[in-house]
Amino acid sequence: MKPNDFPKDIQPYLAPTHEGRLVYRCLGCRAEFGIEKLAYVCPKCGQVLLIYDLNFARLKDIPAARWRQIFDYRKMLNVDALKGIYRYHEFIGPVIPTGAVIYLGEGHTPMIEANAALQDKVGVRFYFKNDGQNPSASFKDRGMASALSYINFMVQEGYLSDVLAICASTGDTSAAAALYAAYLPGVKSAVLLPHKKVTPQQLSQPLGSGATVFEIPGVFDDCMKVVEALSENYSVALLNSKNAWRILGQESYSYEIAQDLEYDVSRAVVVLPIGNAGNITAVMSGFIKFYETGIIEALPKIIGVQSEHADPVYRYYLEPDEDRRRFVPVTVRSSVAQAAMIGNPVSMPRVIHLVKRYNELAGEQRTFFVSVSEQNIMDWEILANRNGHIACTHGGESLAGLLEAKKRGIIDRQDIAILDSTAHALKFAGFQELYFEQQFPPDYKISPRRELINIPVYVHPADLDKVSAPGQPLKGKDFEHFVQRTADEISRMLDLKKRGKQP
Ligand SMILES: *Cc1c(COP(=O)(O)O)cnc(C)c1O
Ligand SMILES: [Zn+2]
Repeated sequence: MKPNDFPKDIQPYLAPTHEGRLVYRCLGCRAEFGIEKLAYVCPKCGQVLLIYDLNFARLKDIPAARWRQIFDYRKMLNVDALKGIYRYHEFIGPVIPTGAVIYLGEGHTPMIEANAALQDKVGVRFYFKNDGQNPSASFKDRGMASALSYINFMVQEGYLSDVLAICASTGDTSAAAALYAAYLPGVKSAVLLPHKKVTPQQLSQPLGSGATVFEIPGVFDDCMKVVEALSENYSVALLNSKNAWRILGQESYSYEIAQDLEYDVSRAVVVLPIGNAGNITAVMSGFIKFYETGIIEALPKIIGVQSEHADPVYRYYLEPDEDRRRFVPVTVRSSVAQAAMIGNPVSMPRVIHLVKRYNELAGEQRTFFVSVSEQNIMDWEILANRNGHIACTHGGESLAGLLEAKKRGIIDRQDIAILDSTAHALKFAGFQELYFEQQFPPDYKISPRRELINIPVYVHPADLDKVSAPGQPLKGKDFEHFVQRTADEISRMLDLKKRGKQP
């Protein structure tokens, strides 16, 4: 719809006008810094940062009902810059002019309700929110749209030129970073991946986008240290979730859930995997902002899920006494939730800060952490996909986490769970293959369940000596024989009934 065709009272709000005053704020010493410079950690104390809008209170001048209208009407607006995560511009990047926004189709991923059979099995009403349907097939695109729009803005303002963007990655960050960087002239990208610890699909993505790809022996945590050393000593733009702009963009996940549930999230339970903990940081932060402006009237429950093979956040919260909690990084073991195979999450201080605030605002505990076995992750991923989903292993982890949460009494009868399937199933198809071919190396501790295995059946009847090959098609009688015998064989295997005469 054209802006002039919208109701008169909504027209002044369609394009964002709120003037944000964004600052980095240190979670350690509370110091604040301007955003005209790239910053990842506090120059005073080295702690991680979050971005705050000093004018945030002004958003409360607009009534909640009006905000809901604004977002709902913006759905009908044909302005590229406001089609993705920046539908919520005032909350995500109010200093970014719409002319600097990079939109590649990210955000507004669908929530798909599980069918009755699967809901019966799980015993909870639930949806998958398919973040694999983002442009590079993971939720990382939300954060990159924000981080690269910011870099674009900085280049346009003359604060930056000839940017080299770098990141360490368990695969999906590099795919998203390379994609968005490739779109921007003047921005080059380099990515560091743990050698043999990303899937072939994930490796193909930054290569295809033209990034310089370095493979480093070790695991993600080792790559992260190298990237940190580079960003401390050289002029590069760090695109890991240490970069607080990533967090802002990823808040869109919460805003979309709120909007898709018509802003009633009182019964919602958001379940998501935790790796470097940027995503859960963003999800909490997003709901808090909508709650503080009254756009939602309750804070949903949030359940963070970790694999037993990489569960430092879960372990931290095992200690009920807040004052006695100590964060201890873990040494990770092989995990099918490979993008979350992180032993020392960069955003841990953000999680600690926001979990406390979230529960204080809610007036009760609304954040929970569970850990799940590799076996359950795989079994539930496969079961989900056999019921019409496109969940990746981390989507399986979310579902396994929902079951664990139910077992522990965290889920109430009327709750509606929204499970983050953080990437597309195809990125992690290799794990499905290991399962179906019963080839999992022992360190995963996964034994495939017979009834879930599915492998192709090769059809070549023994008496069929002539078959076609590329460039050598069968002809005449030979071809008829091939078709007939193969069809017979398949009908025998499927036990098909002969069709009656057509009336
Ligand atoms: C990055 C990633 C995660 C982990 O998210 P964090 O923000 O690092 O906690 C989970 N799943 C997939 C598919 C990812 O790419
Ligand atoms: Zn500080």
